[in-house]
Amino acid sequence: MPKKDIAIAGAGIIGLSAALDLALAGAQVTVFERGLAMHESSWAAAGMLAAGDPENPVELRALSTFSLGLYPDFLASIEHLSGKTIPILSTQTLQGAYSLPPNAHRLSAETLQALAPGLQEDGLKFYLLEEKCFDPRLLGDALVQAVKEAGVTLLEQTAVNSIESSAEMVHIYTTSGEFAADDFINASGAWASDLSPIPITPRKGQLLLACHPHLYADQHLTAAVRTPHLYLIPRAEQHVLIGATVEDAGFDKLVDPAIIQSLHEKAADLWPPARDAQVVDAWSGLRPASPDSLPVIGSLAPHHWLALGHFRNGILLAPGTARLLRQLILKERLSVDLHHFAPGRFNPKHA
Ligand SMILES: Cc1cc2nc3c(=O)[nH]c(=O)nc-3n(C[C@H](O)[C@H](O)[C@H](O)COP(=O)(O)OP(=O)(O)OC[C@H]3O[C@@H](n4cnc5c(N)ncnc54)[C@H](O)[C@@H]3O)c2cc1C
Repeated sequence: MPKKDIAIAGAGIIGLSAALDLALAGAQVTVFERGLAMHESSWAAAGMLAAGDPENPVELRALSTFSLGLYPDFLASIEHLSGKTIPILSTQTLQGAYSLPPNAHRLSAETLQALAPGLQEDGLKFYLLEEKCFDPRLLGDALVQAVKEAGVTLLEQTAVNSIESSAEMVHIYTTSGEFAADDFINASGAWASDLSPIPITPRKGQLLLACHPHLYADQHLTAAVRTPHLYLIPRAEQHVLIGATVEDAGFDKLVDPAIIQSLHEKAADLWPPARDAQVVDAWSGLRPASPDSLPVIGSLAPHHWLALGHFRNGILLAPGTARLLRQLILKERLSVDLHHFAPGRFNPKHA
């Protein structure tokens, strides 16, 4: 069988993970990236694999579990191809909730204080999740290298302007000329509606990195802490990541010092040692969101595929989404029922 030619718009974690899976399955893949690879939402993320976050919609459960299960092989394959290591920064999360989910065991005050000395429960009940977290920028560096090693052509500074699909193939019009492919995947994040008739909007997240060099080792967080309002994630060398807002601010990525200060204060109310920590960095990113906050995975037109709207969980969901796209495009059996993620759900004509 001749090699399939696949074109992808967007070199965030969704586009690059799909590129890697398809290339390893034997496809010839080209990724078009308007700016630099892994420099938008995927760069801004906190890096939690938050499959157990009680704030996640229930419809996400099967896809989250599937994607999480693929993570060890996904990371191993990226590390093998790139020769780079992706360190795991924390392996446990203290999840706070106003009511405990079934089967969750509330942590005793002693256990809580051992993992997060000083933590204020403030009406919340905390339980433990085995959940990994890593730095998405280190993952990004390694993933870019890995896709190149796997034979993917990555064209940065090349925007897709429009596409035309016919029964046989797709024409892709870019700022570097016209290309043809057997299949096209729109993985262009918060900007996806420019290329496909799907209502994806940006939801801004601001977060900050703080450093507290004067804490004794036994006063540090040894697990991430997450509540319905914010999270704190221990990072190397006495740093802690504090996030994140969810804002409807269009495509504005400006960091607002007042909002950063307010996040810092809320974090210090929850974990008082954060009060003396110095803010060393703050940034923002645009999460791609659909109207029902669920991803969009599938097609609306022949050979025109969509991998969009991963909102707060794109890092978690990347390997699962990539595998499902591969299964759709190569006509393999699907591992997850995709009806919750059908592109046609926003347009009755296509439903
Ligand atoms: C503050 C914050 C914290 C987060 N924390 C987490 C977390 O802890 N865990 C988690 O799982 N998720 C997290 N997320 C969500 C996660 O970052 C996103 O869901 C994920 O990065 C989306 O990936 P993407 O590839 O779809 O989009 P992006 O990473 O934004 O990539 C889209 C790419 O498409 C390119 N592009 C756009 N238009 C075109 C075009 N016309 N032609 C070519 N290229 C184009 C863009 O330049 C961009 O590089 C967080 C997000 C934010 C903002």
